[in-house]
Amino acid sequence: IPVEPFDLVIFGGTGDLARRKILPGLYRRLADGQMPPEARVIGAARSDMDDAAFRALVGEALEEFLPDNAKDPERIAEFLELLSYVRVDATGEDGWAALKEHIREGTVHAFYFSVGPSLFGPIAERLKSQGIADDKSRIVVEKPFGKDLQTARALNESLACHFDETQIYRIDHYLGKETVQNLMAVRFGNMLFEPLWNSRYVDHIQITVAETVGVGGRGEYYDRSGAMRDMVQNHLLQLLCLIAMEPPGRFEDESVRDEKLKVIRALKPVAPEDIVRGQYADGDEPGYKSAVNNPSSKTESFIALRLGIANWRWSGTPFYLRTGKRLKARASEIAVVFKDAPHSIFDGPPGQSNVLSIRLQPNEGMEMVVTIKEPGPGGMRLIQVPLDMSFADALGEQAEDIPDAYERLIMDVIRGNQTLFMRGDEVEAAWAWTDPVIEGWEDRGATPSPYEQGSTGPEEALMLLHQDGRRWREIK
Ligand code: NAD
Repeated sequence: IPVEPFDLVIFGGTGDLARRKILPGLYRRLADGQMPPEARVIGAARSDMDDAAFRALVGEALEEFLPDNAKDPERIAEFLELLSYVRVDATGEDGWAALKEHIREGTVHAFYFSVGPSLFGPIAERLKSQGIADDKSRIVVEKPFGKDLQTARALNESLACHFDETQIYRIDHYLGKETVQNLMAVRFGNMLFEPLWNSRYVDHIQITVAETVGVGGRGEYYDRSGAMRDMVQNHLLQLLCLIAMEPPGRFEDESVRDEKLKVIRALKPVAPEDIVRGQYADGDEPGYKSAVNNPSSKTESFIALRLGIANWRWSGTPFYLRTGKRLKARASEIAVVFKDAPHSIFDGPPGQSNVLSIRLQPNEGMEMVVTIKEPGPGGMRLIQVPLDMSFADALGEQAEDIPDAYERLIMDVIRGNQTLFMRGDEVEAAWAWTDPVIEGWEDRGATPSPYEQGSTGPEEALMLLHQDGRRWREIK
């Protein structure tokens, strides 16, 4: 769907996120013919540089972060033409008047805050006091949105002083993934799944976000955060909400976000025995403690949780969540594991349960595992086979064009569609649930268990499901 002409200002336009994700995403929209020729992108950051230097920096970023088959020199030149740069001091007075000059009348105005959260308030304040943003402007803010309920509230308040909630787009790029939206299409576009989508037929649900990378250069930030704050409070809980929510009346902003909020509010408190925390030990790479340069760190680089949702639909169905760094493979998946058939009419071992798995990465797609008869004359032997719904196979060339989450979400901002963004009350509710869990282990002085690099996390994480007579799906 085409978008209106826009002026997009990227605060932190020279930073890592802008170079890695935002600018390559915008280029792809242009290369796809989805960017109006009148669109303008304005980098705003602390470094002193002119338009030419900014274009050169973005040109290098595109070279580095775009796959080779997406690089078209003519299109890249066209894209660089849309860029300009203003040096702005987010906490001072410099550059704001110049920025105002860059914003045209009659276009959609969006301001992407790709800077640390301590600058959200000062930027919001200046955008308004300098007369740069108005009641129709949109602002986009990045994670981390606070580190607990109190800081998230303070951030919300600092934005709410200057912008209405309908103007604020809190990004969670997991929600921009094609498969996540496809999950909505599958759940609410088919008769097949929704009648089974409850504790009567679903045995349990697993959500895994496994990374192979370690903490990298983010050690200092990560050590203050940990997997619970960095991944569970936002990305994994958002995925859980989409899986567990009641059907919204419409696929639109408020209906979807109202339903997600109800799920977060229905989350049961978590007991210590429902949590496993881990920290990667020394291995091929220096272990977690060395990576963050803190020999006494008690921060988790892995977490597994058993959650319950207190409502009619999910009473009694466990949700198992796990995420961690330096694991065996980079794989994100949601798996809905159905109950066994109530009675087997066949001799021999019964078939295993049906599983609907939704892969977020790699190879976005879905798979339904069903039981069939093993071919051949050997009698009625049951085997499990996947009904594979890989986008690549089913959609051919169309699947090669799946837009990255960031480009889709930025275009949603320009369209004024908030469905895939978190509302302020949702973020606060998520922290209100997360805080006591973290306080619990801090009060107990709990230390995470060491785990081997390249593994699936600490042994205790396996036990968490074994105790319940279940097992994690393979990370592959
Ligand atoms: P970065 O340090 O690479 O870039 C920061 C940018 O902010 C630079 O352009 C810098 O010039 C600008 N800046 C800093 N202080 C300023 C000031 N006073 N006035 C004007 N500009 C100023 O950081 P990043 O990695 O790009 O991250 C930006 C935000 O996005 C952070 O909040 C981060 O947590 C979040 N984030 C980053 C990633 C990622 O992959 N890098 C992923 C998710 C969220």
